[in-house]
Amino acid sequence: MIPTEKIYSSDNTTYDQKSVSARLEALFLNNVGLVVTREQIIAAARNPITGKEPENWHQRLSELRTDKGYTILSARDWKTLKPEEYVLASVERREKAAKRVRPTPATWKKVIENAGHACEWREDGQLCGLKEGAIDPIGGGTVKLTPDHTTPHSVDPNSDPTDPTHWQALCGRHQVMKKNFWDGATGKVNVIAILQAASVEQKRQALSFLEQFFEKRSSGRQLKR
Ligand SMILES: [Zn+2]
Repeated sequence: MIPTEKIYSSDNTTYDQKSVSARLEALFLNNVGLVVTREQIIAAARNPITGKEPENWHQRLSELRTDKGYTILSARDWKTLKPEEYVLASVERREKAAKRVRPTPATWKKVIENAGHACEWREDGQLCGLKEGAIDPIGGGTVKLTPDHTTPHSVDPNSDPTDPTHWQALCGRHQVMKKNFWDGATGKVNVIAILQAASVEQKRQALSFLEQFFEKRSSGRQLKR
Protein backbone atom coordinates (compact mmCIF):
# COMPACT_ATOMS: atom_id res chain seq x y z
CA MET A 1 0.00 0.00 0.00
CA ILE A 2 2.84 2.41 0.77
CA PRO A 3 4.42 3.92 -2.38
CA THR A 4 8.00 2.88 -3.12
CA GLU A 5 9.12 6.43 -3.79
CA LYS A 6 8.22 9.81 -2.37
CA ILE A 7 7.14 11.99 -5.28
CA TYR A 8 5.47 15.34 -4.83
CA SER A 9 2.42 16.25 -6.85
CA SER A 10 2.74 19.47 -8.86
CA ASP A 11 -1.03 19.83 -9.11
CA ASN A 12 -2.23 23.42 -9.12
CA THR A 13 -5.60 22.84 -10.78
CA THR A 14 -8.53 24.98 -9.73
CA TYR A 15 -11.15 22.47 -8.65
CA ASP A 16 -14.72 23.57 -9.31
CA GLN A 17 -16.73 20.72 -7.79
CA LYS A 18 -19.67 21.92 -5.70
CA SER A 19 -18.54 20.92 -2.21
CA VAL A 20 -15.27 21.03 -0.28
CA SER A 21 -15.36 17.21 0.05
CA ALA A 22 -15.89 16.74 -3.70
CA ARG A 23 -12.98 19.09 -4.51
CA LEU A 24 -10.67 17.30 -2.07
CA GLU A 25 -11.73 13.90 -3.39
CA ALA A 26 -10.99 15.06 -6.96
CA LEU A 27 -7.58 16.40 -5.90
CA PHE A 28 -6.58 13.07 -4.33
CA LEU A 29 -7.97 10.96 -7.17
CA ASN A 30 -5.94 13.04 -9.65
CA ASN A 31 -2.79 12.43 -7.61
CA VAL A 32 -2.89 8.79 -6.55
CA GLY A 33 0.43 7.72 -5.04
CA LEU A 34 1.75 11.30 -5.00
CA VAL A 35 2.45 13.52 -2.02
CA VAL A 36 -0.13 16.27 -1.63
CA THR A 37 0.77 19.10 0.72
CA ARG A 38 -1.35 21.17 3.08
CA GLU A 39 -1.03 24.14 0.72
CA GLN A 40 -2.35 22.12 -2.22
CA ILE A 41 -5.23 20.83 -0.13
CA ILE A 42 -6.20 24.32 0.96
CA ALA A 43 -5.92 25.60 -2.63
CA ALA A 44 -8.18 22.81 -3.92
CA ALA A 45 -10.64 23.19 -1.05
CA ARG A 46 -11.01 26.93 -1.68
CA ASN A 47 -14.35 28.06 -3.05
CA PRO A 48 -13.73 28.35 -6.83
CA ILE A 49 -16.03 31.37 -7.15
CA THR A 50 -15.40 33.43 -4.01
CA GLY A 51 -11.84 32.17 -3.38
CA LYS A 52 -12.78 31.73 0.27
CA GLU A 53 -10.63 29.26 2.16
CA PRO A 54 -12.82 26.78 4.07
CA GLU A 55 -12.21 26.55 7.79
CA ASN A 56 -13.23 22.93 8.00
CA TRP A 57 -11.02 21.31 5.37
CA HIS A 58 -9.31 19.20 8.01
CA GLN A 59 -12.61 17.63 8.95
CA ARG A 60 -13.56 17.03 5.30
CA LEU A 61 -10.18 15.34 4.81
CA SER A 62 -10.75 12.99 7.71
CA GLU A 63 -14.22 12.18 6.33
CA LEU A 64 -12.64 10.97 3.10
CA ARG A 65 -11.05 8.30 5.28
CA THR A 66 -13.82 7.55 7.72
CA ASP A 67 -16.92 7.95 5.54
CA LYS A 68 -15.67 7.24 2.04
CA GLY A 69 -13.16 4.56 2.96
CA TYR A 70 -10.10 6.00 1.20
CA THR A 71 -6.69 5.06 2.52
CA ILE A 72 -4.97 8.42 2.85
CA LEU A 73 -1.53 8.09 4.37
CA SER A 74 -0.01 10.69 6.68
CA ALA A 75 3.25 10.89 8.60
CA ARG A 76 1.70 8.53 11.10
CA ASP A 77 1.40 5.77 8.47
CA TRP A 78 4.48 6.45 6.36
CA LYS A 79 7.48 7.82 8.21
CA THR A 80 8.91 9.47 5.07
CA LEU A 81 6.06 11.97 5.08
CA LYS A 82 6.36 15.25 6.95
CA PRO A 83 3.45 16.51 9.02
CA GLU A 84 0.65 17.86 6.83
CA GLU A 85 1.73 15.81 3.82
CA TYR A 86 -0.75 13.23 2.56
CA VAL A 87 -0.84 10.43 -0.02
CA LEU A 88 -3.87 8.64 -1.38
CA ALA A 89 -2.41 5.13 -1.59
CA SER A 90 -4.83 3.78 -4.21
CA VAL A 91 -8.22 4.47 -5.75
CA GLU A 92 -9.61 1.50 -3.91
CA ARG A 93 -11.89 2.18 -1.01
CA ARG A 94 -12.33 0.05 2.05
CA GLU A 95 -15.73 -1.55 1.72
CA LYS A 96 -16.58 -1.36 5.33
CA ALA A 97 -16.11 2.37 5.66
CA ALA A 98 -18.56 3.29 8.36
CA LYS A 99 -21.74 4.48 6.72
CA ARG A 100 -22.58 7.64 8.49
CA VAL A 101 -25.97 7.54 10.13
CA ARG A 102 -27.33 10.97 10.82
CA PRO A 103 -30.15 12.07 13.08
CA THR A 104 -33.34 13.14 11.35
CA PRO A 105 -33.74 16.94 11.05
CA ALA A 106 -36.39 16.88 13.80
CA THR A 107 -34.12 14.88 16.12
CA TRP A 108 -31.15 17.13 15.43
CA LYS A 109 -33.32 20.16 16.24
CA LYS A 110 -34.10 18.63 19.65
CA VAL A 111 -30.48 17.72 20.30
CA ILE A 112 -29.22 21.18 19.51
CA GLU A 113 -31.98 22.81 21.58
CA ASN A 114 -31.18 20.59 24.56
CA ALA A 115 -27.53 21.55 24.13
CA GLY A 116 -28.45 25.24 24.23
CA HIS A 117 -26.89 25.63 20.77
CA ALA A 118 -23.44 25.01 22.25
CA CYS A 119 -20.79 22.29 21.98
CA GLU A 120 -21.37 19.50 24.50
CA TRP A 121 -17.79 18.21 24.73
CA ARG A 122 -16.66 17.75 28.33
CA GLU A 123 -13.13 17.76 29.59
CA ASP A 124 -12.37 17.53 33.30
CA GLY A 125 -16.05 18.24 33.91
CA GLN A 126 -15.70 21.49 31.94
CA LEU A 127 -18.17 21.96 29.13
CA CYS A 128 -16.68 23.29 25.86
CA GLY A 129 -19.81 25.42 25.42
CA LEU A 130 -18.78 27.11 22.18
CA LYS A 131 -21.90 28.58 20.59
CA GLU A 132 -22.99 28.01 17.02
CA GLY A 133 -21.72 30.93 14.92
CA ALA A 134 -19.18 32.13 17.53
CA ILE A 135 -15.45 32.37 16.80
CA ASP A 136 -13.43 29.46 18.18
CA PRO A 137 -10.75 31.15 20.34
CA ILE A 138 -8.40 28.14 20.03
CA GLY A 139 -8.91 26.73 16.56
CA GLY A 140 -10.03 29.99 14.94
CA GLY A 141 -12.91 29.99 12.47
CA THR A 142 -16.65 30.10 12.94
CA VAL A 143 -18.16 27.40 15.12
CA LYS A 144 -20.51 25.04 13.31
CA LEU A 145 -22.16 22.41 15.47
CA THR A 146 -22.66 18.97 13.94
CA PRO A 147 -24.22 15.75 15.27
CA ASP A 148 -22.04 13.15 16.94
CA HIS A 149 -22.93 9.61 18.02
CA THR A 150 -22.64 9.25 21.74
CA THR A 151 -22.00 5.53 21.13
CA PRO A 152 -19.15 4.60 18.81
CA HIS A 153 -19.99 3.03 15.44
CA SER A 154 -18.23 -0.17 16.39
CA VAL A 155 -20.50 -0.58 19.40
CA ASP A 156 -23.73 0.55 17.82
CA PRO A 157 -23.62 0.96 14.05
CA ASN A 158 -27.34 1.66 13.87
CA SER A 159 -27.66 4.38 16.43
CA ASP A 160 -31.26 5.53 16.27
CA PRO A 161 -31.63 8.59 14.03
CA THR A 162 -34.87 9.49 15.80
CA ASP A 163 -33.63 9.21 19.39
CA PRO A 164 -32.14 12.51 20.65
CA THR A 165 -30.43 10.72 23.56
CA HIS A 166 -28.12 8.94 21.10
CA TRP A 167 -26.69 12.21 19.82
CA GLN A 168 -24.80 15.24 20.97
CA ALA A 169 -23.79 18.51 19.37
CA LEU A 170 -20.05 19.07 18.88
CA CYS A 171 -18.03 21.94 17.49
CA GLY A 172 -15.66 21.23 14.58
CA ARG A 173 -12.55 21.08 16.74
CA HIS A 174 -14.05 18.47 19.05
CA GLN A 175 -15.45 16.46 16.12
CA VAL A 176 -11.93 16.23 14.70
CA MET A 177 -10.51 15.39 18.11
CA LYS A 178 -12.97 12.54 18.54
CA LYS A 179 -12.43 11.27 14.99
CA ASN A 180 -8.69 11.22 15.54
CA PHE A 181 -9.18 8.61 18.26
CA TRP A 182 -9.43 6.15 15.41
CA ASP A 183 -6.92 6.19 12.63
CA GLY A 184 -9.05 5.77 9.53
CA ALA A 185 -6.09 4.56 7.49
CA THR A 186 -4.80 1.83 9.81
CA GLY A 187 -8.02 1.11 11.73
CA LYS A 188 -6.05 1.30 14.97
CA VAL A 189 -6.75 3.29 18.07
CA ASN A 190 -4.64 6.44 18.29
CA VAL A 191 -3.60 6.17 21.93
CA ILE A 192 -1.79 9.51 22.07
CA ALA A 193 -4.79 11.42 20.70
CA ILE A 194 -6.95 9.78 23.34
CA LEU A 195 -4.50 10.63 26.10
CA GLN A 196 -4.34 14.23 24.91
CA ALA A 197 -8.12 14.51 25.19
CA ALA A 198 -8.36 12.64 28.50
CA SER A 199 -9.07 14.43 31.75
CA VAL A 200 -6.23 15.12 34.18
CA GLU A 201 -7.54 12.32 36.40
CA GLN A 202 -7.55 9.85 33.48
CA LYS A 203 -4.05 10.97 32.48
CA ARG A 204 -2.90 10.35 36.05
CA GLN A 205 -4.38 6.83 35.99
CA ALA A 206 -2.71 6.14 32.65
CA LEU A 207 0.61 7.38 34.02
CA SER A 208 0.45 5.19 37.10
CA PHE A 209 -0.48 2.23 34.89
CA LEU A 210 2.55 2.91 32.70
CA GLU A 211 4.85 3.34 35.69
CA GLN A 212 3.78 -0.02 37.08
CA PHE A 213 4.01 -1.62 33.65
CA PHE A 214 7.60 -0.50 33.09
CA GLU A 215 8.64 -1.24 36.65
CA LYS A 216 7.38 -4.81 36.32
CA ARG A 217 9.12 -5.19 33.00
CA SER A 218 12.48 -4.03 34.26
CA SER A 219 12.27 -6.12 37.46
CA GLY A 220 11.23 -9.10 35.32
CA ARG A 221 14.35 -8.66 33.26
CA GLN A 222 16.52 -8.53 36.40
CA LEU A 223 15.07 -11.82 37.62
CA LYS A 224 16.05 -13.55 34.42
CA ARG A 225 19.69 -12.61 34.77
ZN1 LIG B 1 -16.23 22.04 21.43
